Amino acid sequence: MKLVDLFEKKTVFSLEVFPPRKNTSKESILPTLSSLNDISPDFISVTLGAGGTAQGNETIEVANLIQNQLHVPAVAHIPSLYRNQDQVDELLDQLAADNIQNVLALRGDPVDGLSPNGTFYHASDLVAYIDREYPNFDVAAACYPEVHQESPSVVADIEGLRRKVDAGADHLISQLFFDNQHFYEFQERLALAGITVPVEAGIMPCTNKKQIERITKFSGVPVPKKYQKMLDCYADNPLALKDAGIAYAIEQIVDLVSQGVDGIHLYTMNKPEIAEKIWDATKTIFEANQTKDRGAIELVH
Ligand code: FAD
Repeated sequence: MKLVDLFEKKTVFSLEVFPPRKNTSKESILPTLSSLNDISPDFISVTLGAGGTAQGNETIEVANLIQNQLHVPAVAHIPSLYRNQDQVDELLDQLAADNIQNVLALRGDPVDGLSPNGTFYHASDLVAYIDREYPNFDVAAACYPEVHQESPSVVADIEGLRRKVDAGADHLISQLFFDNQHFYEFQERLALAGITVPVEAGIMPCTNKKQIERITKFSGVPVPKKYQKMLDCYADNPLALKDAGIAYAIEQIVDLVSQGVDGIHLYTMNKPEIAEKIWDATKTIFEANQTKDRGAIELVH
């Protein structure tokens, strides 16, 4: 069964991990993966390097562990701005040899001083290439409920998404966001644009203040006042901040699942204890939704 077919049957719950740092054994991530496996995710995706300039071996090795030791579908991220066709082929051939046929096709972030390769200038170029040359792969792409930071307008942002979906993206995974209303408005824009592929909502629980501030600054994701207040209030109490962050993520997920979201993609930051708490608090909600008619997107205001 292709990964995308899962969305027909249930509200998908997936996880994201990053590979261990360079020069650290890939096995060091096994305890994390094994704890994450206890919550039976529908798939686990593995990031590839900041800016996507890393070679990708670590990503493939971790994806291999997920797919072939845990027997959970693995999705490998492939940022393509700095890769040529041979390098992309090498990654895809290795993935296929490891029995992994799911990728998240990305452009990656521009890195100061580095010239793009020019082969895959936008994620849609990579999606089209994989769709043509590796038709057995299930291809996901990224989307941005609060508009990608380089997009000159909301319309340009949706046009970029339209290109990815027309090129063959089977489903979309969203950037993190802290205000569900932005996600619902985004769903409306997708519906108006006739984009009907499943869209997973990306949820990042707060694990520490500095990390959230770094990620939101880098990705241009706005922090609502309510969320900032939480960060400030518990800045000196990491345990309380972690609990508040988990509670916030749970509230977001309960609302999204109740409104019929296609799936939740949890950015775990390799912290299984947080993912476990969130899953424990929401699993009955996911299970209750598995029998629901998942036909049309319901627009909410
Ligand atoms: P694109 O879809 O190419 O979009 C980039 C910009 O170009 C957008 O503003 C878009 O509107 C515009 N655009 C698209 N097509 C066209 C066109 N034909 N003409 C003009 N403009 C166009 N980065 C990593 O390095 N490694 C990772 O593992 C990673 N994982 C991620 C996972 C998720 C779920 C998300 C949401 C992001 C991830 N990123 C990762 C970050 C991502 O690479 C950056 O957000 C990057 O800036 C954009 O990538 P994209 O694939 O969305 O690019």
